[in-house]
Amino acid sequence: MAVNRAAPAATGAHDPAGLLAAHEAIARELAAQGDWRRAYEHLGSALELARAGASCSHPQIPEQYQLEVERLRRERAQARHESLTDALTATYNRRYLDRRLGELRAPSVALVDIDLFKHINDRFGHQVGDQVLQRVVALLQQTLPPDAFCARYGGEEFVLVAPGAGPAAAVALAERARARVAGFPWTHVRPGLSVTVSVGVAPFSGTSERLDDPQKQLAEADALLYAAKRAGRNLVAHRERGLVRFLPTLRTHATRPCP
Ligand code: GH3
Ligand code: MG
Ligand code: MG
Repeated sequence: MAVNRAAPAATGAHDPAGLLAAHEAIARELAAQGDWRRAYEHLGSALELARAGASCSHPQIPEQYQLEVERLRRERAQARHESLTDALTATYNRRYLDRRLGELRAPSVALVDIDLFKHINDRFGHQVGDQVLQRVVALLQQTLPPDAFCARYGGEEFVLVAPGAGPAAAVALAERARARVAGFPWTHVRPGLSVTVSVGVAPFSGTSERLDDPQKQLAEADALLYAAKRAGRNLVAHRERGLVRFLPTLRTHATRPCP
């Protein structure tokens, strides 16, 4: 049902009770449609009217409306939370990521991809795959400084965003994340299970307008992630003076020119 927004004005000028009822009915209808913001506004108006009339005729009404406003406020907050988080892993989703990247100054980004995840699904089943996604998110989050966050980029890919982290801090953060996933006792989840991630890091450099743009940084992180996969997985790839370098450095990796 379409909401008739003219109703309060038409009913209300001479009839406060009718106006109040109309605001309430519209608020209910808008809430049913998920339009929390406008529902909340109408209920707020109803509350004001009820307050104004409470002293004489209906002293119980304000509390009733107060409760209703509180309920709507909670539902609105819940709906907002759900629109910005990933249902499976409870981390932020792509919508949140895009929004924050548009606002942040000097974010460093790292793109994290679970290695051979299709094989994990095939061998252990989708449910175990889902558990792995949840656990990987928990491990990634443990490695983040307080102002950084993790968002699910899609499938088995996650973005770590660290505002204000320079190149060395961004690479260190990515390496901590990689090592924590590789070091987790996955066999406790399922015998024979082993999980690693590859990471591409694109720090905010502060020197290149061409690269210091979040979408370009994500593209750069993606290219480096691909380099980490090609170099054998379970690696962090970053760029130093134009050359791709890998961590950990225990294994020997040739540095390469830009892919
Ligand atoms: P690579 O190391 O090159 O990244 O290989 P990969 O197997 O991880 O990459 P590929 O893109 O071939 O496979 C990704 C798989 O992730 C395929 C898809 O079914 C699975 N996947 C994506 N989202 C989910 C999910 O929410 N739950 C589960 N269980 N699997 C998912
Ligand atoms: Mg992938
Ligand atoms: Mg993968």
